[in-house]
Amino acid sequence: MKNIHYSFITITSILISIFFSSSSAHFFPNLTSIPKTFIPNKTSWDGFNKLLGCHAGQNLPGISKIKQYFQQFGYCTYTSTNFTDDFDDILESAIKKYQLNFNLNVTGQLDAQTLSHVILPRCGNPDIVNETSTMNSGKVNSSDGTTKHVHTVAHYSFFPGRPRWPPSKSELTYAFEPRNQLPENVKTVFGRAFERWSEVTTLSFIETTSYGSADIKIGFFNGDHGDGEPFDGVLGTLAHAFSPPSGRFHLDGDENWVLDGNFVSAPSSIISAVDLESVAVHEIGHLLGLGHSSVEGSIMYPTISSNTRKVELVDDDIQGIQSLYGSNPNYNGSQPTLNPSPDGSWGENDTSRADSLMGSFWVYSLILVASGFVIDSLL
Ligand SMILES: [Zn+2]
Ligand SMILES: [Zn+2]
Repeated sequence: MKNIHYSFITITSILISIFFSSSSAHFFPNLTSIPKTFIPNKTSWDGFNKLLGCHAGQNLPGISKIKQYFQQFGYCTYTSTNFTDDFDDILESAIKKYQLNFNLNVTGQLDAQTLSHVILPRCGNPDIVNETSTMNSGKVNSSDGTTKHVHTVAHYSFFPGRPRWPPSKSELTYAFEPRNQLPENVKTVFGRAFERWSEVTTLSFIETTSYGSADIKIGFFNGDHGDGEPFDGVLGTLAHAFSPPSGRFHLDGDENWVLDGNFVSAPSSIISAVDLESVAVHEIGHLLGLGHSSVEGSIMYPTISSNTRKVELVDDDIQGIQSLYGSNPNYNGSQPTLNPSPDGSWGENDTSRADSLMGSFWVYSLILVASGFVIDSLL
């Protein structure tokens, strides 16, 4: 009888465990600690490569998928019934806007240069919100189709309406989704990321265990987590964050998150490692009110190559956040030189230094619906 009782408890425990394990996240102290079984052969959007050279008027399997991609990031508005495999004028226009935003040749075609950007891991937040782009395409009149677009002005942006935390909230609290049970060394990475923003502004950030009442709520989730922005597995979208005063910060639990992103000596075979601090710094920018920037070296650029670490704010990021919150009196760096209008339009700042600084960046988002969250910490 006793054995039967224990068996019942065991089976019940397993069932509960399955139910409450619907979300998980993987953390690795460094690149070499990622098991081979966690390294995929291809990334989420590799399938787009078969559309190389595609242009208006064509019909090819897979075009419907890339329409969904551009719609997800704000470049077009289709009804679901328009997701056909026809390369139509709407798609061509979307590609042109994308090319402007990412400083590419404006061809309206899925050329090699464009596809190489499209398949990069990136932030799940759209580049264009409510059909208003605050990246390049919202500021440039010409899209002549062939001319190389060169842009060296400031590109930081805000959400529509320029939402920010009120002055009474200069000290913001943050907490971690309790069901994630994050180890301390993971939490420390987020602490460093917050510090980068407090160094240049009047804001400060304090960790609290009161998740329900925290200003900023951080959690790792898998797939559909209830906010209409499902995560997509390894790479693709990595995280996403909501504008003030929401405070919701979601990260894709399916990524191979690396805590010590020393990628200099990374084996080329590891294509899926994601530096946690790099993504955290970018998403915090959203939490504070910044949108995406067309400055490739900026933290707020939408994409990031895998195996890349990018954690330093550049002038474009600093000018953007200081125009919202002012400068930290102890900060001796650059000061904001313009205040974009409330509709998010931009001024002309020289950010050539930022342009020279480095690679690309990305982000992603997600939400938890019910049940718990199990962290597969390999630390
Ligand atoms: Zn973003
Ligand atoms: Zn989410």
